[in-house]
Parts: sequence; C-alpha cells; structure tokens
Amino acid sequence: MKKRKPNASDAALQLSLPLFDFERAAPPPAVTAPGGARLTLLHAQPVHYELTRSRRRTIGFAIDDRGLRVTAPRWVPLLEIERALQQKADWILRKLLEWRTHSARREQMAVRWQDGAPLRLLGETLTLTIDPHARGVARDGDRLRVALPPNAGAAQLQDRVQAWLQERAREVFAQRIPLFAQRLGRAPSRWALSSARTRWGSCTPDGAVRLNWRLVQFPLEIVDYVIAHELAHLRELNHGPRFWSTVGELFPDYDRARAWLRDFADDTPVG
Ligand SMILES: [Zn+2]
Repeated sequence: MKKRKPNASDAALQLSLPLFDFERAAPPPAVTAPGGARLTLLHAQPVHYELTRSRRRTIGFAIDDRGLRVTAPRWVPLLEIERALQQKADWILRKLLEWRTHSARREQMAVRWQDGAPLRLLGETLTLTIDPHARGVARDGDRLRVALPPNAGAAQLQDRVQAWLQERAREVFAQRIPLFAQRLGRAPSRWALSSARTRWGSCTPDGAVRLNWRLVQFPLEIVDYVIAHELAHLRELNHGPRFWSTVGELFPDYDRARAWLRDFADDTPVG
C-alpha cells in the first residue's frame, strides 16, 4: 500500500474523529451519499434513523422520542457511518429502549381533558366527571366532580382542574416540608410552587425552595424525595457525596425514587 503524504486536512480529521478511530482521510465526494431516512441492523434488530449531512467534523448521534438521528460530515461515506453505528450499537439500543419506557410513562401521566378521563393524584387514579350540579371542583370517592356545563370544552376543564391540583400541591407541600425541615434541623427561607416544564424542584443559595405543582400527581414517596432533595441543598448546595448522604438521612430510600423519576423523563432533572 502506498503511503499518502500527510496534509493539513488529514491532521484535522484525526483530531476531529477521536471516537470512531477512522483510518483514512476524506474520500472523494462521489462516495458520499445524501441524508434522509435510512435503515440499519443493530444486533440483528432493524433500526430506522434519520441521516443529516452537515458541516460538523464528527459523526453525532441523538436519540429522543423521534428515534435515532445521525449527523455526519458531508464527506464521510455511508460505510463509515454504518461502522460507527455498529460500534455504538449497545448504547443506541439501550437509549431507544429507555425512550420507549419514558414515552409509555408520559402517556400514562398525561391528562386527557375530557369527561370520564383518569386523573392521577398522589398515585391514586380519580375519574374526571363533569357535573353541572357539583360545587366547584370536589372529590367524591374516586371521582373528581367539576362544576361545568355538559358542553364545556377541554380548556375550561383543564383550567379548573389544574387550579384544584395546584391547591392540593400547596397543601401537600405545606404538610411535608416541615417534616423534612425538622429532620434536617433547617427550614427553607421560603417556598413556592413552580410550573417549570423542565424541573421538579430547585433551591437557591439564600434558601428559597421551589417545587413543581405537577409532583402532586405522583405517589407521595416521589414528592417526599424531591422535598428531601431540595432541603438537603440547604446544607450542601451541590450534588457531591455529602449532599447525597444528607438526602439519605432525610429519605433513606432515595435510589428508588430517583430511578422512578429518571424513567419518567430524563430531561426533567431534580434541581
Ligand atoms: Zn439538586
């Protein structure tokens, strides 16, 4: 085999593709293929992916509810993309499975705003019931009766029920925070509900705690874990070993609650 003279672009390629250990430099443009929807076999399982050609210098993988997306430099041939896919097969299959689990749980937790739909409250399941004769929003056994005209729309039902859930969240947090504050020997300077889409809770350096009202739909031990987590930040404003040992003092079974929340959505961290 004839040794090629190294040049500047070879050097750049070596540096920019450290993960996949490409042996050769850029092939001629004719070998490259356009992007689009593609199919590969990973450990004998068919996996669809969307290939995007870009100006980036490395092959990138992203997995979310839309599936697997691959971004590759224009000059990398399909053969090398396929090789990179095979090298990452375990990771890709694991992530795809995780996303399917998340989607199933999200679907389970998402509220359909209509008469007869299930609504979760502290791990229990109530049935939304539009009842023109109800008083406001009232729990009646495993029904949640909502005073609305029979032809009320989804938005009206959502407004009423979310306001009710927020009140329940405030009640539950007001009961649970003092329990953990007592165990810790420290209380938040103040606390408030949040409706953040991306966080279950947060704690500022001056001790202000915010808790997502949507937590009230989860089982109580999940609410307790998030409260314990945020209150532990009153002692340790980081996620180091001393922080986790504080969480463990407040809520010994935190591993299970963490895993539960991770399964629910790994893009919604506990702050
Ligand atoms: Zn945290």
